Amino acid sequence: MKRFLPFHFNWTWAFLALFTLLCLVLSSFTAVRLRALLRSDAEASLVSAAANNVHRVDLQLQQGLSDLQLTASVCAAMPDDQDRLDHLTTLVEQSGVDALGLFTGEGEVFLTDGNRSMLTGALLRASQEGVPTIRFSNTLSPDGENDLIYLVPFSSQPGGVLCRVRASLPLQIPEPFPGFQNAPVVVDPDGTVLAQEGEVLFSPDLFTALKLQYGADPLELEEMADTMASGGKGALRFRMDGRSMALAYAPLSVDNWYLVTVMDVESNQAPLYKALWITILGDIILLAAFLFLFLHARRSQQQSMVLLEKAAYVDPVTGGHNQTRFLILAQEALDAQPPGTYALVSCDIQAFSLVNRSFGKAAGNQVLYHLNTCLRQKLRSDELVGRVAQDQFILLLRQDQEAAMRTRLSGMASVFNAYNDTLANPYYLPLTMGVCRCDPQDPATLSELCDRANLARKRAKGLPETQLCSCAFYLPSDQQRLLMDQSIYNRMNTALEQGDFKVYLQPKVSLSTWQVVGAEALVRWFDPEQGFVEPDVFIPVLERNGFITRLDAYMFEQSCILLRRWLDLGLEPVPISVNFSRANLGHNALPQYRLLQQRWKVPPELLEFEFTETLVGENPAYFAELVAQIHCAGFRCSMDDFGSSYSSLHMLQQVPVDVLKLDKSLFDGLRDDARRERTRTVVQSVLEMAHRLGITTVAEGISDQVQLSALEGLPCDMVQGYYFSRPLPADDFQQSFLRKKEE
Ligand code: C2E
Ligand code: MG
Ligand code: MG
Repeated sequence: MKRFLPFHFNWTWAFLALFTLLCLVLSSFTAVRLRALLRSDAEASLVSAAANNVHRVDLQLQQGLSDLQLTASVCAAMPDDQDRLDHLTTLVEQSGVDALGLFTGEGEVFLTDGNRSMLTGALLRASQEGVPTIRFSNTLSPDGENDLIYLVPFSSQPGGVLCRVRASLPLQIPEPFPGFQNAPVVVDPDGTVLAQEGEVLFSPDLFTALKLQYGADPLELEEMADTMASGGKGALRFRMDGRSMALAYAPLSVDNWYLVTVMDVESNQAPLYKALWITILGDIILLAAFLFLFLHARRSQQQSMVLLEKAAYVDPVTGGHNQTRFLILAQEALDAQPPGTYALVSCDIQAFSLVNRSFGKAAGNQVLYHLNTCLRQKLRSDELVGRVAQDQFILLLRQDQEAAMRTRLSGMASVFNAYNDTLANPYYLPLTMGVCRCDPQDPATLSELCDRANLARKRAKGLPETQLCSCAFYLPSDQQRLLMDQSIYNRMNTALEQGDFKVYLQPKVSLSTWQVVGAEALVRWFDPEQGFVEPDVFIPVLERNGFITRLDAYMFEQSCILLRRWLDLGLEPVPISVNFSRANLGHNALPQYRLLQQRWKVPPELLEFEFTETLVGENPAYFAELVAQIHCAGFRCSMDDFGSSYSSLHMLQQVPVDVLKLDKSLFDGLRDDARRERTRTVVQSVLEMAHRLGITTVAEGISDQVQLSALEGLPCDMVQGYYFSRPLPADDFQQSFLRKKEE
């Protein structure tokens, strides 16, 4: 059977997945976009820092040269080289430059640090041509390093002054932002490195290092070389030790030199990236929190749904399906299979109300739980059971031949009663089942099928049991019966009010004196429109709708009135027995009967209650208690229809009734020659046993001489039957059988 509330495509989940996807895509897009922006921003910063550097370095170089020109003009005015060298030595000490020096017309150099050297190459040419110049050279260096040399020839005589500066000194610039290399590199346009210091070193030249060591893009390198050759400026990205680096190149004003400014992009942008990652992480945390809250809310909602579903569909007593769920699942099953596949079975426990009354509601609930378990145990995989009311269950079973279905249902009743196997005092709970087959020729809705199964069950109540199960299959006449029930229901109140119910009395004759010694009050209904209605027709209806309690009380009161009248007329009264229906057990009816008896001032011993044997058999202990109360009130008690069901003899021991009315079916065999002796033996043993227990016996339904003769010699006290008299109107009875009291 399909699980209820199956998984369906859920728009909420789809929306959630879409939302999450959208958030992730947006976050990724933002991250990528921000990264690109940061990169271009870094490049812009670098380019602007580089331009700044070029300006600073140019200024420093020009400043250095003009300072040296001033020194040159001072020195030119001095008389000899010794004075000039002394002046230069003083200046070195004051200015902090590395070294100053004089050079002669032949290019010989005298440095303030005491070293002597010779000008070569471009410096020599510049000294000879009298052009102030700035060059990188290692010829004047004490340690062979490439130093920055400022050279200013005298204008009026050969020779001049020069200044040696350690290469990096004039190039030191303040760090504008993190990651910026504050020692720029000076290169020739062909990439030859003139001066460099710091972490990033380009060796043997700028382009080779960028290409081989730092993996710069060859195309970009080519473009950079072209740009530098044409005196332009630009920027380039490269990687160093896995870090993203960038350099900017721009021409200096001196000798086509280029200043290369290097920046560690990553460390420069680390705070920004940190902020970016924190933002993304924050987004993810927020998204996760949202998802968590959403899922939590969803889970709570689902838990509430489960609880609601349970409340709506689970029977709290049995834990199984309730009516609503049964109907939903049954409809699904019926829709899924061709008509005629299933039959509906309505089932209840006979006399369940007695279980509740005798053992309490909790025990009653346990019985219902047990029944549900037993029924489920016997179901096939596609069959269903649900509890629809108090002790009423409904089953959807696979349709089969009637005999096979009866066997199955009896099997269920047997399993349900199997607990009795181990009990010393068994307490049987027979089931009543009504079956409605699904006839493909007569299609009906599920609700109609249930109604029909219920009708069949109601009819089954009057049927004999097989293995603790009374079972009836739905017949169209059940519908008629329902209509009849309704018709009786509509008329019963008026009938009682108008006195359409009449008391008839059937005499009980003593077998020893042949005198009428008692009477049974039997109801007769004379409907003004429909005429005489048989008790067998209306009494079961009134029992089902509970009206029988009012009718029984009415019959009891009418009997009291009759007895009162007989007493008032000075007639010798005979005790009247009234039938006491099952429905009276639902409420404590005895006090009401006592009031009636007291109102009409009738001696209680003239009144007797008749309980059917089956009623007593359902719960002998309960009846023993009830009989005690009845005796206490002074009334008498009889067990009616004794011998009509299976549990007779044992009950007598438990329930101390005054009278035993042997059922007329017991005497049927007396008419049959073949069965007479056996029947007589059975009747005899029952009578003898009752006699020994001090119980008065009445043989019911004696309708002919043969039956009467067979009773001769047996210890039977009274006879009631058509042989002596049919039930008579009370007046006729009085007329025929009552005598004046002897004074
Ligand atoms: P019951 O209490 O066992 O009453 C005896 C039934 O047997 C009566 O049927 C009576 O007419 C019938 N009877 C008596 N002698 C003979 C006979 O020789 N042969 C045959 N074939 N039948 C005989 P009745 O009056 O139709 O009542 C049927 C049942 O209806 C009663 O069985 C009783 O259970 C119930 N009943 C009748 N009146 C009342 C009543 O006022 N209240 C209640 N609760 N039930 C009643
Ligand atoms: Mg009776
Ligand atoms: Mg009877």
